[in-house]
Amino acid sequence: MDSARIERLQESLRDAAPLTVVKTALSTFGHDVAISFSGAEDVLLIEYASQTGLPFRVFSLDTGRLHPETLEYMAAVERRYDLRIEYCLPDHRELEPFVRAKGLFSFYEDGHAECCGVRKVAPLRRQLGTLRAWLTGVRRDQNEGTRGALPTVQPDPEFIGSDGKPLLKFNPLAHTTRAEVWAAITALEVPHNPLHDRGMLSIGCAPCTRSIHPGMHERDGRWWWESPEKKECGLHPPTKDGAP
Ligand code: SF4
Repeated sequence: MDSARIERLQESLRDAAPLTVVKTALSTFGHDVAISFSGAEDVLLIEYASQTGLPFRVFSLDTGRLHPETLEYMAAVERRYDLRIEYCLPDHRELEPFVRAKGLFSFYEDGHAECCGVRKVAPLRRQLGTLRAWLTGVRRDQNEGTRGALPTVQPDPEFIGSDGKPLLKFNPLAHTTRAEVWAAITALEVPHNPLHDRGMLSIGCAPCTRSIHPGMHERDGRWWWESPEKKECGLHPPTKDGAP
């Protein structure tokens, strides 16, 4: 997609409702766009996609370290929406040498970047290489420091698509608050991950996710041993103030 068309899309969707953003992405890219589903409240994107009546694809990163509850929840989402999630697994040629050299919990010692690189970023890069656009559930209020300027639509700063150009990244929930997301999930009777009911507001891999107390920020439950600016796993690079 040329830059002029991307700019028109950004302008028209800047403050659009999430359902409008999802419908525009699906109708524009068809089979070349997919929803990235983490097994958390980004399930709302699947609900909106189903409401459009258009065909849609969903993929998930099965890192091998997800909670059993998350895996069971994903299966329940498949049943509810009559879909097959495209699971993306780590490449054993990268994972085995890494785990054999450093063990299963090296991230507590030297940070999560290496493990996330093998278990998340590399499989994601493979999957995105088959697409021209993707839909994510990221929101500004998840991390003001790294996502505070997140736009609704952006040329992906990190990943290249099947046509050799930067993917177009749709963030339909960018300016939606956590409270608004949960109001919609409740009102639409969308199934949710039971781990949310145990104080895990942001859900990732089991060893890197913990429950939080009232008053704590949701990201305080992720990679709690690392500083806030490092609480990204490489899937969504930080957006700078004023970035498109
Ligand atoms: S979240 Fe934790 S277990 Fe999962 S890939 Fe990253 S470092 Fe590894």
